[in-house]
Amino acid sequence: MADRRPLTTTDAGIPAPSDEHSLTAGPDGPILLQDHYLIQKMAQFNRERVPERVVHAKGGGAHGFFEVTADVSELTRAAFLARPGERTPVFARFSTVAGELGSADTVRDPRGFALKFYTDEGNYDLVGNNTPVFFIRDPSKFQDFIHSQKRMPDTNLRSNQAQWDFWTLSPESAHQVAILFSDRGTPWSWRNMNGYGSHTFMWINAAGRRSWVKYHFKTDQGIASFTDAEARAMAAEDPDFHLRDLHDAIARGEHPSWTLEVQVMPFEAAADYRFNPFDLTKVWPHADFPPIKVGRMVLDRNPENYFAEVEQASFEPANMVPGVGPSPDKMLLGRLFSYPDTHRHRIGTNYLQLPINQPHVPVHSYNKDGAMRYRHAGAQPVYAPNSFGGPEADPQRFGDPGWEVGGEIVRAAYRLHREDDDFGQAGTLYRKVLTATDRDHLVANVVGHLRGGVEGDVLARALDYWTRVDAELGGRVRAGLGLPAGDRSAAAVG
Ligand code: NDP
Repeated sequence: MADRRPLTTTDAGIPAPSDEHSLTAGPDGPILLQDHYLIQKMAQFNRERVPERVVHAKGGGAHGFFEVTADVSELTRAAFLARPGERTPVFARFSTVAGELGSADTVRDPRGFALKFYTDEGNYDLVGNNTPVFFIRDPSKFQDFIHSQKRMPDTNLRSNQAQWDFWTLSPESAHQVAILFSDRGTPWSWRNMNGYGSHTFMWINAAGRRSWVKYHFKTDQGIASFTDAEARAMAAEDPDFHLRDLHDAIARGEHPSWTLEVQVMPFEAAADYRFNPFDLTKVWPHADFPPIKVGRMVLDRNPENYFAEVEQASFEPANMVPGVGPSPDKMLLGRLFSYPDTHRHRIGTNYLQLPINQPHVPVHSYNKDGAMRYRHAGAQPVYAPNSFGGPEADPQRFGDPGWEVGGEIVRAAYRLHREDDDFGQAGTLYRKVLTATDRDHLVANVVGHLRGGVEGDVLARALDYWTRVDAELGGRVRAGLGLPAGDRSAAAVG
């Protein structure tokens, strides 16, 4: 057997002198600076990590494909959606949000649901979550939101008080917090949760007709969640439970799949829809815009190397192919900048040249050079316009999708539509969607978290917050904390 093993080499491919011994002056002597192989091993080891993601650090992923099952060519000219039966390779990454790289998978947190479609018109990234809404609706609050959820500067501990302080001072969070504290905040596995594009996007058909769309990837495995106690127990027993579950299921040949449904709003209907359709804290009720099936996604291949394919996978909502565009959703517009910016910092300028990130079609851009760039266009001119046969854009075919804008430049909240408020849809979830058991668990999960150090004014505001979602829910949270009914003073709850 031994003679079949490859020779160890340095990273330059030179046969290595030893797997066991460093080069010394005599067996007991000092190590020599000329031991290039040892120095390479030590130096490379010291640089094994790239900065972990500030959010969504812990995750896992898999390869697969997306297959179109319905004709949506009337709605979008995206080539990968053009025909039923059309298949596009995908890579999916799932993650928690707040924890670090080594943190437990089953904790209460939203889950990232990030998809990269390697289409014939370049990469399309849909960077969603397992929830259809988000905590905030303006990207200027994102950094503050995340700071409130992660470790505090003095103790380096997470603080329930800080979390509820931010949430209760940001009432637009109520809908997402209600979902987070339902059992959907602790999914049983990545296979057993839905994925939502969450934002509103634009679809444009071949004739230039625009529509607004929302994406829903519904799990074909069925929704399954842990209770709070089960999730805590699993966090202790197997912190990598979700990572292991996805890997092992695919290795067994059980390939998880999701059915893609979209809600479609006519372009003109946005102006006076009862909710602001671009507000990321709101859903479009299904009765208003019934979801239509578009296709299915199947994950059927595990990564061969976690670092190369998962840790360095770089998703960016700005990667949109012809036939898809952004919307006035301010969170989406903020993310168009922040994702590629973090990849340049975390992975490096040329992150798009890594195999996991590079498109499956040729790249003909005028960008050049930078650290670790290895693909180039040879003798192609490096500027446009040029008269030497360099690539040429076609604005007629591939112009930017857009919409009309007007008004003064302001810093202001969204214009309110008829039924816009911060608590209504969370109340609908509680009253109309959750089962009696779901409601019991929501109350217990909220009470348990509030007991973890939330006090004073923050606790008083939390009671008010849940009462605004639903009066009965507020009463049950208060009772669960053992507080007298009706007394809203901070002193009573401090
Ligand atoms: P529908 O009854 O038509 O849809 C309810 C939706 O809620 C379904 O998509 C269902 O997903 C989902 N759901 C079920 N249980 C939970 C839970 N514990 N946490 C989060 N979502 C859950 O009602 P509407 O469309 O009128 O929406 C009513 C409320 O449902 C909304 O205010 C919102 O809170 C929630 N919701 C709505 C969605 C939408 O896009 N309209 C999407 C997800 C939630 P499933 O079929 O997979 O069980």
